[in-house]
Amino acid sequence: MTNRTLIQFFHWYTPADGSLWRQAGEEARRLSEMGITDIWLPPATKGASGRHSVGYDAYDLFDLGEFDQKGSVATKYGTRDELVAAASALADCGIGTIVDVVFNHKMGADEREPVTVRRANPDDRTEIEEQSFKAHAWTRFTFPARGGKYSPYIWDAHCFGGVDHVEDPDAEGIFKLQNEHDLGAWSAEVDDELGNFDYLMGADVEFRNPSVQEELKFWGRWIAEQLPVAGFRLDAAKHIPAWFFRDWVGHIRDTVNADALVIAEYWHPDQEALKAYLEKVDHQLMLFDVGLQHSFHHASRAGAEFDLRTIFDGSLVSAMPDHAVTMIGNHDTQPLQSLETPVEPWFKPLAYALVLLREQGLPCVFHADLYGADYRDVGGDRNEHDINLPAIGCLPALLEARRQFAHGPQTELIDEDSSCIGFVRHGTAEQPGCVVVLANGSDNGKEVALGPDLGARTYRDWLAHRQDTVSTDERGHAHFPVNGGSVSVWVLMD
Ligand code: CA
Repeated sequence: MTNRTLIQFFHWYTPADGSLWRQAGEEARRLSEMGITDIWLPPATKGASGRHSVGYDAYDLFDLGEFDQKGSVATKYGTRDELVAAASALADCGIGTIVDVVFNHKMGADEREPVTVRRANPDDRTEIEEQSFKAHAWTRFTFPARGGKYSPYIWDAHCFGGVDHVEDPDAEGIFKLQNEHDLGAWSAEVDDELGNFDYLMGADVEFRNPSVQEELKFWGRWIAEQLPVAGFRLDAAKHIPAWFFRDWVGHIRDTVNADALVIAEYWHPDQEALKAYLEKVDHQLMLFDVGLQHSFHHASRAGAEFDLRTIFDGSLVSAMPDHAVTMIGNHDTQPLQSLETPVEPWFKPLAYALVLLREQGLPCVFHADLYGADYRDVGGDRNEHDINLPAIGCLPALLEARRQFAHGPQTELIDEDSSCIGFVRHGTAEQPGCVVVLANGSDNGKEVALGPDLGARTYRDWLAHRQDTVSTDERGHAHFPVNGGSVSVWVLMD
């Protein structure tokens, strides 16, 4: 049985040269051979900043790089035809395409229109001023260049619940739009940070408008007809009422694909918040394990001070492994980005071993870790920085180890030593297992009892971090070493 493995095939600073779809198609064979089964592509829909848009400033969900809108036909990643060709090439290699879905907001409206708004307190969004006032807002989306192809739906002030900018009188802030759907309050069933985290940015979509719900369900069916879709990654889920995605994912399962892989981005490090969200969406989807990513970040900064035995404490994968997508980083956590919590390069092989070789969780490999990334941007300190993220040299070998050796029951190797942990995968009748040992301090190792069936056998380090071999005694006992600040994956020599 193949171990399902996801890759996030982009990072924030993926060059805006329109080549990513072509690259994805060209890499399909190699990714498949590495053991990648699913690829999360960046938003394919046209963003307000056109070909420079990473894709999260959603403008037109039906423009996949086909219409001359926002300054170009292609998106940052290529044209619609190139996207469809890439998804087909990936499917031919057995790799499923995961489509990034940006529903929370729209940006780059075509027209402004008269609205009635009330000002909300940015620090406590539930405090909305009694007094409303009339102004104009950029809330009308007519998509003139698309001209109604695929969908005639026009978005206007009835489709949105809030904006951050009004004109005549000009004002900035957070403004609750008044219309027949909102009952004078933000949506319920969103994250409670800042009182109510419905509003994130741009023109905030009003999911309580039934025609909006229908249009977004239609889009879900439509996109699955345009290219082979294996699943969806749902952007900004903590800003969208949970009942909407409960309904939308159910609709997708009923009409498009009962087995669709659906992963919501509910960016919250607290396991309890993620569990509560899963409850609200009837456990129909998976979530990124934010708590585990934060653990990796802290462990990589603390070095030998970090108690490796606590690395899974508070993680989603430890509580609900079937609903956890585990990762080391993404386009938001990479250096200079909004949720910056990078994992230091020395620790990445250890972190990847912990997500790729264990039984629990669906791992997601980050593009920058496989290919490296070079970029320059302004940081929180307002200074320009040059960032060089090296490719993790042993990542392909770890992926291969997942394919070949991450099989069978798992035994933890955890004792009084806080700077060395490990685990055994015992293999199955058909597939071999492995012994994985990690250390964040000095050279270390673990005494392991593999049983008489594995007596008098010789092991080597699959990652070649250790050049020596390990031989078990007649009872199957041996000491499996690991270098300081490293990981070794011990596999049978023959
Ligand atoms: Ca919202």
